[in-house]
Amino acid sequence: MKVVIVGGVAGGASAAARLRRLDETAEIIIFEKSGYISYANCGLPYYVGGIIRDKEALTLQTPQSFYNRFNIKANVNCEVTAIERDQKRVSVKNLITGEIFTESYDKLILSPGALPVVPSFCHGGERVFTLRTVEDAIKLKAFCKEKNVKSAAVIGGGFIGLEIAENLMDTGASVTLFERSDHVLAIVDDLAAAFVHNELRAHGVDLQLKADTLSLKTADGCAELVLSDDRTMRFDMAVVAIGVYPDSSLAVKAGLKTGVKGAIAVNKNMQTSDPDIYAVGDAVEISALPLKNSAVIALAGPANKQGRIAADNIAGINSEYQDTQGASVIKVFSKTVASVGATEKQLKTAGVAYEKIILSAGNHAGYYPGASSMTIQCLYSKDSGLILGTQIVGGDGVDKRIDVLSVAMRVGLKAAALKDLELAYAPPYSSAKDPVNMIGFIADNIEKGIVKQFYYEDLDALKNNADALFIDARTPFEYVRGHADGFINIPLDDMRYRLDEIDKTKTVYVMCQSGLRSYLATRILAQNGYDVYNFAGGYMTYAALKNHEYELKECLGCGMEKR
Ligand code: FAD
Repeated sequence: MKVVIVGGVAGGASAAARLRRLDETAEIIIFEKSGYISYANCGLPYYVGGIIRDKEALTLQTPQSFYNRFNIKANVNCEVTAIERDQKRVSVKNLITGEIFTESYDKLILSPGALPVVPSFCHGGERVFTLRTVEDAIKLKAFCKEKNVKSAAVIGGGFIGLEIAENLMDTGASVTLFERSDHVLAIVDDLAAAFVHNELRAHGVDLQLKADTLSLKTADGCAELVLSDDRTMRFDMAVVAIGVYPDSSLAVKAGLKTGVKGAIAVNKNMQTSDPDIYAVGDAVEISALPLKNSAVIALAGPANKQGRIAADNIAGINSEYQDTQGASVIKVFSKTVASVGATEKQLKTAGVAYEKIILSAGNHAGYYPGASSMTIQCLYSKDSGLILGTQIVGGDGVDKRIDVLSVAMRVGLKAAALKDLELAYAPPYSSAKDPVNMIGFIADNIEKGIVKQFYYEDLDALKNNADALFIDARTPFEYVRGHADGFINIPLDDMRYRLDEIDKTKTVYVMCQSGLRSYLATRILAQNGYDVYNFAGGYMTYAALKNHEYELKECLGCGMEKR
């Protein structure tokens, strides 16, 4: 059997290596348009910033090492320009020699990836860059060095935009990040984004939200940017990172079926509408969990898994892709931001009724030095209790919690069942009640009516309710350093002795720093006959969403509460 693979990086290289492990006799040929195979796209921003010093470290294999290990011919600088399905062959152009030739196949795997969106306002030129390939990264890094770049604009606050902004700062440039919407990272909701905004600004990034770029070009030795509010700004260079789109042009030309955003339609076996052609990675349409909507999700994990699945099926092993949850993690300076599943925005759009838990918790026991706080937002179905999505921002330990929640979601755990998970504990790593367990405890309390919650987004309406009484249950010291409008201070430890100050005819809304002390206060009040609600996420959440940057910084230092 002869298998031709288009694209020799995440999905393509995985498919090739798996196929060889399954079939020693197959002829396997890769065509890769760039000069490298099996390179680490995900490491490219860190090469620009200098954390990864050696460009060889970015290339996990060379054509020669791939041939030596797997007996696979990987042809770099070779672009597949057409698929002739009736002849079962592809046309290839050698981009160095200009030679054009054809290659026949029994089975074809397409893994061409995604392309950076270059908007119509972008007129390019030598000072405007995108980042996708090793060549892009080398060019960008060399430019920064040769031209002694002191100022850079990054257009777009997605994964690549944030990573390149941080890494350009690491080169010593000042960076202005322009984002069209009111928050960066579309894969998270307002709360997680608010923490990211603070982190970017705290590290000196000039973050311009709701900044609509009208034009970007190289002019007079600068990258010149014009914004819709008539500002014209000049930088030494600019990177455009406003998203990617599936590179399905070959498939479209060959008449293969496509779906959302023009991505290649595939079945669970990663087979296209032509049974002899498989497609994997960023270029394909998948079903996204938990909503099971058709989507395109550009992540390395799914691409690698899909490559393996395509190879299995070609080798005669039935193997099915089990949908994408979009589990992702990104470093933003000293913060880690991670998410899985649906956002609140997506659930609202889909009309799914959900419950929301916001928890601020320590990454490990507070008494063990170096503990830091993480904020978790977990969304779960009001009807079934199943976990629908989670977002976490913090420092150490964020990646571990998102992975647990991703697995919980994958196996169909209900949020309340998180309380039963047995998770490894010693003081340097966790708490006896891990933050993941805490989500379960809160969900269980909500289910049993032991606690009722209210949220930041409820505050405006509640403020106009004459029957509402607002209590801040923190210490007077914390209260004077910053509190939400309209909240009076009755510290938790005084609550039992000051009940006569709390009007029983009113509905009581309690806030503290993280949500724990206010929860304890609600239990005292509820058992004394009050109708009482706990503020989800505490003052840390309030301050983050209010964008009280100074207060937020202060809060983070004192955000660890004993449990
Ligand atoms: P790719 O790995 O992009 O490979 C496609 C290859 O096909 C390309 O090299 C291209 O040159 C080649 N090609 C295209 N058309 C042709 C043709 N006609 N003929 C021959 N060759 C062709 N994902 C994460 O999960 N975590 C991260 O931290 C992360 N960071 C990233 C950072 C950057 C800067 C970038 C660009 C991506 C990042 N990603 C990350 C995304 C991840 O790299 C992709 O999801 C993954 O590589 C997709 O695999 P793929 O095989 O579909 O495409």
